[in-house]
Amino acid sequence: MEATRGRSSSSLLTLLYNRRVKTWDVIIIGGGIIGLSLSIALRKRGATVLILERGQPGHEASYAAAGMLADFPLEMPSALQPLAAASARLYPEFVHALQDESGMSVDLRDQGTIFFATPEHLREHPRLATDCAVPLQLGELEPALGQVDLPAVYLKESSVDPRALTAAALKAARHRGVDISSGTTASAVLLSNGRATGVGTGKTEYCASVIVNCAGAWAGQLSPQQFPIRPVKGQMLSLAAASRNLLRHVIRAPEIYLVPRSDGRILAGATVEEAGYDKRTEADTIQRMHRAAIHLVPALAQARMLEAWAGLRPGSPDNLPILGATRTPGYFVATGHFRDGILLAPVTAHVMAQMIIGGELEYDVSAFSPARFES
Ligand SMILES: Cc1cc2nc3c(=O)[nH]c(=O)nc-3n(C[C@H](O)[C@H](O)[C@H](O)COP(=O)(O)OP(=O)(O)OC[C@H]3O[C@@H](n4cnc5c(N)ncnc54)[C@H](O)[C@@H]3O)c2cc1C
Repeated sequence: MEATRGRSSSSLLTLLYNRRVKTWDVIIIGGGIIGLSLSIALRKRGATVLILERGQPGHEASYAAAGMLADFPLEMPSALQPLAAASARLYPEFVHALQDESGMSVDLRDQGTIFFATPEHLREHPRLATDCAVPLQLGELEPALGQVDLPAVYLKESSVDPRALTAAALKAARHRGVDISSGTTASAVLLSNGRATGVGTGKTEYCASVIVNCAGAWAGQLSPQQFPIRPVKGQMLSLAAASRNLLRHVIRAPEIYLVPRSDGRILAGATVEEAGYDKRTEADTIQRMHRAAIHLVPALAQARMLEAWAGLRPGSPDNLPILGATRTPGYFVATGHFRDGILLAPVTAHVMAQMIIGGELEYDVSAFSPARFES
């Protein structure tokens, strides 16, 4: 990628440099699933786009996620439910386009979810017991399940492989002509007369009239506005089951959830920890989760442990996303997706692209306005 404007005190030099300045319509800070999906939505609408990514695109929270598309209103703030439902509706088309453009499979699985409901869940959501009855005997539906002393309900929730999804989104973004600068840390949004005009990295300045902060758990670290985003750590592990078909459904129990992949891997997760920017795994925690997974599906005692990892979810004070224009003209933010960023990627891309390019918004996102944190 062509380098952009270097700092110079000489006006002649500045003029010469400016002739070589490359500018974009939109610069996105952060190449996770949110930044990548938005870049594609903007390119579809004709904008030129540069993504600045500190590390490798798609290797932070989006790499760590389990990939449940959990849109049933169970453990989600009520203000988020309409947006989550809208995103779940957009998912098949979103995945189809990414697979088509990248030539990669993202392992969208629509076998559904078996959810073991606590008495609190049943009290808060009485329609669980009536509308979500398990279609067959539980043993016929998922023979590998052990004994769980809670009622099982069936949810039509899908899952996806987030690592494959972000890899496909990266390839599709490149295919569509999005410029991506990896290993580039944005340090500040540049302003001129109070308007955003670019992004500085300390060494280089990149110019655009629209900047979007999609920096996930790090989104609060960029000036000029400090959004109250905190990292929420999640530890997970994956197992290689002896049989590819050991589990068909996502299984959600109070202690642990299990997410099967079509290649035979089974993911078990996840902790929700306020531990700062610490991505280390702890042997005790991983062992406890391993035991819980075996309790839920006894045959997992024979499964090989493949990997353990931790990621940092972007959490906001009200656990809702922060989406939209900031009080600085030209500066937008799309972060705070917390536990649902994989699910919310299609609708976030859609709504943010509408906000940036202009036009009537299809979804009411007033509850997610950055203004609620701007004093
Ligand atoms: C263990 C775990 C399980 C999860 N399970 C699910 C699930 O089942 N379903 C679901 O929907 N969601 C799940 N999530 C949540 C989901 O992963 C996140 O909400 C989502 O990935 C957030 O995407 P993002 O693009 O905002 O952040 P990220 O993927 O973290 O991307 C942000 C990017 O910004 C870059 N960046 C940061 N600062 C800068 C800077 N200054 N300059 C340049 N680049 C920068 C980072 O390097 C990073 O690549 C889970 C998360 C975890 C950790």
